[in-house]
Amino acid sequence: STNTSNGSDKTLIDSNASEKTLLDRVDSVDSQDDPFIWNRQNSLAATMKEWDIPFDDLHVKEAIGKGRIGTVYRGQWHGDVAIKVLDTGSSADNDAQLAAFKLEIAVLRKTRHENLVLFMGACMTPPRLAIVTSFCKGQTLYTMIHLNRNAFKINKAIIVASQIAQGMSYLHARRIIHKDLRTKNIFVDSGKVIITDFGLFHITKLCTGVHSASFFSHSNIRKENRLRVPKGWLCYLAPEIIRSLKAMQQSQPDLPFTNMSDLYAFGTVWYELLCNDWPFRGQPCETVIWQVGRGIKQSLSLVTAPREVKEILMSCWSFRPNDRPDFSQIAKALNRIPRTRLIRSPSHPCQLSRS
Ligand code: ADP
Ligand code: MG
Repeated sequence: STNTSNGSDKTLIDSNASEKTLLDRVDSVDSQDDPFIWNRQNSLAATMKEWDIPFDDLHVKEAIGKGRIGTVYRGQWHGDVAIKVLDTGSSADNDAQLAAFKLEIAVLRKTRHENLVLFMGACMTPPRLAIVTSFCKGQTLYTMIHLNRNAFKINKAIIVASQIAQGMSYLHARRIIHKDLRTKNIFVDSGKVIITDFGLFHITKLCTGVHSASFFSHSNIRKENRLRVPKGWLCYLAPEIIRSLKAMQQSQPDLPFTNMSDLYAFGTVWYELLCNDWPFRGQPCETVIWQVGRGIKQSLSLVTAPREVKEILMSCWSFRPNDRPDFSQIAKALNRIPRTRLIRSPSHPCQLSRS
């Protein structure tokens, strides 16, 4: 409605007004006059209350696995849920960091899309900070590709990639940068793609637990100088991020993530889907950093796929962020991959190999 409920003429809003004007007008109305008025000052506190789940309300079951920011447990809270308990250590005492966590949570609650994991709430009382989402059945793309070695037929790869592009396009439209798009964060259940862990990357700063210590360092690098990079993470990092890693010391500083760096990461996921492998497989991290930082890409010379398939890959991996497409362009480009070629050999995986 463009009219607030008390009907006073000061609340009548011109339908031609810009969004900013609308918000300003709403803000300028005294909320004590009208309890229905959204009050910016109180909105964050109210939001937090609405999404706060007391930790004791959760029925925490077995641990499923450990990630960079904490441990994920299977649990029950009005049905099956995944509970990501943050390794906060003593840093949860830090008010600024806790406020940052709450802000990230405020962002998560804005997401409603069928290809995104359902955010259900969070435990926000230190030291027990946790994020509660719907439980994803099925497997991650990582498990399917790298552990089970399932070869995706090209038409299935296109369907999966299209759903990823749709979920990501929605996130970007909501001005949320994923920052950690990789096959470990993409589930597939009965053909449906569910993307997880969007927007959580900065929570890493809150976390001091064991897992941040497992950032590996290459043995050839002197100990005091070592670059701490989590395994399986490097190949998703766009050149501009790789270049800013040089100064990285302990955990993550503010890395320059953008929509375009998400696009680069999508390129790597697309490569994994097509080739059943990592780009730069088996190469030491310094070599990958050196190449990507200078714009050298994984060669596709031995990849026998339609031209359109490779074009998508190369455009996502463009050295200059602005040369990368956006996700709606990706979705269109995926649609344009000629299906006739797919029909010719429907029973065989796409004949791809890596150089
Ligand atoms: P990573 O993404 O590096 O695997 P996470 O902390 O995100 O680390 O996940 C730890 C484990 O929990 C992984 O095995 C992951 O597949 C699983 N997991 C994470 N989120 C969910 C979820 N919503 N539903 C089911 N399993 C999940
Ligand atoms: Mg994850």
